[in-house]
Amino acid sequence: MSSPAVPGALVQEFRLIRDLARRFGRTGTAVLRGIGDDAAVVRPDGNRDLVLTTDLVAEGVHFDPATASWDDIGYKAAVANLSDIAAMGGVPQYVLAALAVPASRTTAEIRRLYGGVMRACRVHGVELIGGDTSASKAGVFLSLTVTGTVARGRALTRDGARAGDLLYVTGSLGDSLAGLDLLTSHPGGRRLRLAPRYRTFLIGRHLRPSPRIREGQLLAAHAPALATSAIDLSDGLSGDLAHICEQSRVGALLDAAALPLSPACRAYARARGLDPVSLALTGGEDYELLFTVPPDRRATLDRLARRHGCRFTRIGTIRPKTQGLRVRGEDGTVRRLVSTSYEHFR
Ligand code: ADP
Ligand code: MG
Repeated sequence: MSSPAVPGALVQEFRLIRDLARRFGRTGTAVLRGIGDDAAVVRPDGNRDLVLTTDLVAEGVHFDPATASWDDIGYKAAVANLSDIAAMGGVPQYVLAALAVPASRTTAEIRRLYGGVMRACRVHGVELIGGDTSASKAGVFLSLTVTGTVARGRALTRDGARAGDLLYVTGSLGDSLAGLDLLTSHPGGRRLRLAPRYRTFLIGRHLRPSPRIREGQLLAAHAPALATSAIDLSDGLSGDLAHICEQSRVGALLDAAALPLSPACRAYARARGLDPVSLALTGGEDYELLFTVPPDRRATLDRLARRHGCRFTRIGTIRPKTQGLRVRGEDGTVRRLVSTSYEHFR
């Protein structure tokens, strides 16, 4: 709880919490205490490891209420967290929400923000069990904490890739960055000539990405785990691949021709005069999973992909560390891969 600067603000805060708890705080029997006590109490699953993640979004840094609805903002904040649980192979369970709101914002706006959070969460059975509320002097801040579980010892980490492993990615790449460009007033973005169905698809991929929860669980569920390492793509393929390589002490060779690009992303790149490969390499916020699989598990992976209708695309190979990070271009030439993803404070 915050110390309110204005008399009456405390009453407002309690009213807001009560309103949010009533609308979004319904929970099942494993939650012994949800919103309303000093802390939440939940009954843990016996034989599983706990997975915890937190992620904060700040107005003007991560979102702009002029280009996204409150519902979209909440939805995406939830996805960023759910995607981290997915990257560990976890089953998400609970969410806590810490919120700072300027006096200029209305309860209806905050309700819509929570509506978005819970829309993304409920699909995966995730329940809201607590949070904190404060006034803010500079925009809305929303920090979510999501918990989950994974079978004991089975969490997918970033440090298990070995030379010779095959490199895979879920879904398609670059869509989110294209969608962002279409939304912003960037020269040409809005006025670009692009089929409406492509425009809708790309904007949807930016505002409503899908956390790959099911895929992450599949990769962790098979003993030994199918994936030797995994990470979710929040900063962009080149940067996130560098994290796996650094922590696993390996190099990698990417195959540019194999990168999964949606028809919409290709059309967008053509219309905009951009190289779709560089969109796929540097575009952030796709929330796809990047993972490595030993070559002898390839048939199992293909079988699972068919059975569960998952899209896994092989995009390269893990190499010894001495070979560094390289990419084979569509023309066959191999060059060094520069990690040019989005970083804060740079
Ligand atoms: P305390 O001062 O003991 O931390 P608070 O007034 O901050 O108590 O919180 C009271 C209850 O309301 C707690 O269960 C807390 O988790 C919940 N809560 C507070 N703010 C939020 C919020 N923005 N969203 C969801 N739950 C919240
Ligand atoms: Mg508190």
